Amino acid sequence: MSNEYRHVLVAVDLTKDSHKVLERAIPIARRNHAKLSIIHTLEPLGFAYGGDIPMDLTSIQDQLDDHAKQRLAEIADPCDVPREDQHVVVGMPDTEIHRFAKEYDVDLIVVGSHGRHGFALLLGSTSTGVLHGAQCDVLAVRVGKDGETDE
Ligand code: AMP
Repeated sequence: MSNEYRHVLVAVDLTKDSHKVLERAIPIARRNHAKLSIIHTLEPLGFAYGGDIPMDLTSIQDQLDDHAKQRLAEIADPCDVPREDQHVVVGMPDTEIHRFAKEYDVDLIVVGSHGRHGFALLLGSTSTGVLHGAQCDVLAVRVGKDGETDE
């Protein structure tokens, strides 16, 4: 029985690819008797609109946050990931994933990657950002449209 990892962090974009990424991470966490956390990051509305909109975006941000939590639970609950290990945070995905990983001693981050053509497109922008600067192992699970995956 392997005990290589103690805390596995699964990063999901809440698309249907998320199921595949989570399903790949779960047996790894189980084999290692590791804790499994799942994270989704929301882009801050203020960042997207750069202060151009003269209105308080707090309530819209809260609604987006609630919606993301709901969607994350739909993905994570059936896999028995406890709610306290389901995280929605506001910020840039790679920055927030690195921050979480450092703070909670994550030793494996699992992300999805699209099998696009060419080296630059091999990993999506988020997975590339997560890989660069990560202080732990990163597993890129190949995801894509049906029929385009490795399996
Ligand atoms: P992308 O680079 O956008 O093609 O996304 C590839 C992978 O990065 C996804 O399968 C997720 O694992 C991760 N990812 C993308 N966006 C987010 C996000 N907002 N929050 C957490 N993880 C994300």
